[in-house]
Parts: sequence; structure tokens; C-alpha cells
Amino acid sequence: RLELSGIRRSFDGREVVRGVSLSISTGEVLCLLGPSGCGKSTTLRIAAGVDRQDAGEVRLGGQVAASGATFVPPERRSVGLMFQDFALFPHLKVADNVAFGLKGGAAANGARIGELLERVGLSRFHDSWPHELSGGEQQRVALARALAPRPRVMLMDEPFSGLDNRLRDGIRDETLSLLKEEGTAVLLVTHEPDEAMRMADEIALMRDGRIVQSGAPYNIYTAPVDRAAAAFFSDIN
Ligand code: ATP
Ligand code: MG
Repeated sequence: RLELSGIRRSFDGREVVRGVSLSISTGEVLCLLGPSGCGKSTTLRIAAGVDRQDAGEVRLGGQVAASGATFVPPERRSVGLMFQDFALFPHLKVADNVAFGLKGGAAANGARIGELLERVGLSRFHDSWPHELSGGEQQRVALARALAPRPRVMLMDEPFSGLDNRLRDGIRDETLSLLKEEGTAVLLVTHEPDEAMRMADEIALMRDGRIVQSGAPYNIYTAPVDRAAAAFFSDIN
């Protein structure tokens, strides 16, 4: 379970996250959706612990991960991270990439690596180098790597935007079913309404550093809070 309350963050005197609160339960996907520059990635980075908020609190599994007084570093948060440009390590084979976050590496985790590669449909690439895989295949390895340590929370920042349309749909669906099976709480950042509609249990619509509306995708789509929200959704088909 991930909870953010009253998160604020300024850069050079300009506040880009202006009091964001949200909560994601086990097995739930929350999409933080909004236009470029509204503060989505900054919010996700604070949840991950790779950046620190100026005010507010991050809680994971009911425990404070970051507040004025407390800071748990990213590697001790049990969160998985996936970014658009979060590439595989080119000097490690596929199996070693998947094993990266596991104690003892590939040698000690053969069964877990085998299981994950099978679930992303890439068993045959166990001993391949990243450059021998297509972009979509690499993305699936990155997903397996992020899931390997069984994180309680998965933080994903536009993880599918590097893929072509045809690949993207399949990988989105696979990713979703894997995360649901593992019971992971997911924060998915995107600026694409159709991606949020497709993947989210709940959408939090963000604008100028604030969440302006949140709720089930259907409700947000059919009853947008204002004209700007309606316009943002209008190019979905
Ligand atoms: P996009 O959809 O384009 O990825 P976003 O919603 O993820 O946008 P953020 O990356 O959170 O937006 O950035 C919000 C604002 O904060 C932007 O104006 C950005 O320039 C600014 N910003 C983010 N990180 C920093 C930083 N480290 N230093 C200075 N300004 C920053
Ligand atoms: Mg961003």
C-alpha cells in the first residue's frame, strides 16, 4: 500500500507539486494522468525516494518512508521502478539483468528467473545479450527485472511510450495481468488518456501540480470536472 499526503516540491522558487495526496491499495492500479510538465514524474520520484519533498508524507505499507523527520532510502522501500529510458544493463545477459535486484545473483535464483522469463514469454533469451532483443522484448525483460524482488509497490513512469502501437497494446495487457497476479500496488504515470482508460482502476487527473479530479476511469471520462478535463479526454476514440 502506498500513501502520499500533502506532497509539495519546488524547484528554483517555483512550486511544481502543490499538495498531492493519493492512496493505492494492494493489487490496485492508479494512473496519475496529466499534460506535460504538470508534476507527474516529480511526484513519482518522491514516492520512489530518489527525490525529497519539501512538505508532506510518503507512507509504504503503513510505515513512514519520507517525512520531515524520516527518510528511508529507495533501496529499502520495496518498490519496483520502470521508466521509459530505464534501460537494461548492456554488459549483463538477460538472466543477469533479471537477477540484478536479487541477493546472490542469477546463480542463486535460477527458479525465480526461469519463472519470470516464462511469464513474459522470453525463456529462449535467458542467455542472450540485451542488444540481441527488440525494444519490446527488452521492455519485457525490464518488467521481469522490476518484479523479481516481489516489490509491494511498482512505480512506472511512461514505461510503454518507447514502443510502437502494435507492440504496446500487448505489453500493456501482459504487464497488467502480471502485476495483478503478484498483487502489487501500482502507480502508473502517463500523459495519454487512452493508456489510463485501459489500465487504471482509478485515475487521478493532475494539472499544474494538483490533482483536480480522481475516480474510476468511466466516471472521469463521462463526467469530467471542467472544460479543460473534457478537452484533455476528447481525442480518445
Ligand atoms: P512530462 O509528461 O513531460 O514527463 P511531468 O508531468 O512528468 O511532465 P515533471 O517532470 O514532474 O513533469 O516536471 C514538472 C516541472 O518541474 C517541470 O516544469 C520541470 O521543468 C520542473 N522540474 C522537474 N525536475 C526538476 C529539477 N530537478 N530541477 C528543476 N526543475 C525541475
Ligand atoms: Mg514525466
